[in-house]
Amino acid sequence: MLVGNWKMNTTASSSVGLATAIRNGISGESVPEIVVCPPFISLMAVAEVLQGSKIAVGAQNMHSDTNGAYTGEISAEMLSQMCRFVILGHSERRTHFSESDKFVNAKVLAALSAGITPILCVGESLAEREAGRAFDIISSQLEANLNGIDKNESIVVAYEPVWAIGTGQSASPQIAQDMMSYLREKLSGIVGDRSSDISLLYGGSVNPTNVESYIAQMDIDGALVGGASLDADTFCQLAGQVSRSIH
Ligand code: PEP
Repeated sequence: MLVGNWKMNTTASSSVGLATAIRNGISGESVPEIVVCPPFISLMAVAEVLQGSKIAVGAQNMHSDTNGAYTGEISAEMLSQMCRFVILGHSERRTHFSESDKFVNAKVLAALSAGITPILCVGESLAEREAGRAFDIISSQLEANLNGIDKNESIVVAYEPVWAIGTGQSASPQIAQDMMSYLREKLSGIVGDRSSDISLLYGGSVNPTNVESYIAQMDIDGALVGGASLDADTFCQLAGQVSRSIH
């Protein structure tokens, strides 16, 4: 699986250009799942461009309530008409918008009830890693964020160490694999045997030079890409590399 998080980049018109270039560049690839996550205002237009292609559309966030007096917010029900996926719990939301584990959990449950697959992001900060707390942090985020989910629901989990996002300081493939194997084990305590069906993605400064070293790891099923998803040629190159490396 390859997911592109466009963050707060592109305009309504440039998003159509980017989606069109990706669609044209990716045809023929056999990656099981490619998802692009544009800003809210471009979702509809990008969904139209990608209709009939192998590329799915995801949102970058949503509110946990279905509707109501939440100025500026978007609900899962609104997204469900154009998105199959939604990124939830991204560290930028947790840090800049003070999203708590409880709020992320409510969003996960709301997305699932609306038939949208959450791409749940978890990750430790540099200070937490240096203090030897990385595994504890991931464990508590996972348990809190997935509280109350039905074992049979479809979810994706992305391990994104905060210190690796947008910094060019990607985690080593071994650090990523160690955490993924831990995640897989923790997930089996939450969803039982279905943990092996859950796609685990690595995110944090992924690019065409390092992507294959992640996909080669036993418990890594794909990548969540920020910066490198904004250039169609680079994203299509990543799609080809992920496609060829799938185990
Ligand atoms: C992200 O924002 O999810 C991300 C992984 O960003 P980048 O690839 O730019 O580090």
